[in-house]
Amino acid sequence: MPDHVHPIPDDERVACEVCMKEIPRSEATVAEATDYVAYFCGLDCYDKWQAKGKAQDHPPVAPPKSTPG
Ligand SMILES: [Zn+2]
Repeated sequence: MPDHVHPIPDDERVACEVCMKEIPRSEATVAEATDYVAYFCGLDCYDKWQAKGKAQDHPPVAPPKSTPG
């Protein structure tokens, strides 16, 4: 048995992706991007980040075809 154990860093601080505010990871809003994980101080910043990401990214979405008949 080890004398000292490493506790899980639950109070680790992360920076908000949008406003760079430091917040405890346990309280952060987490978004899993393609390559990394983004943290946000709240849904307000999360929303901004989402809107920004969607604006510069154009997924090839085909328009729904409505076939008559
Ligand atoms: Zn923020």
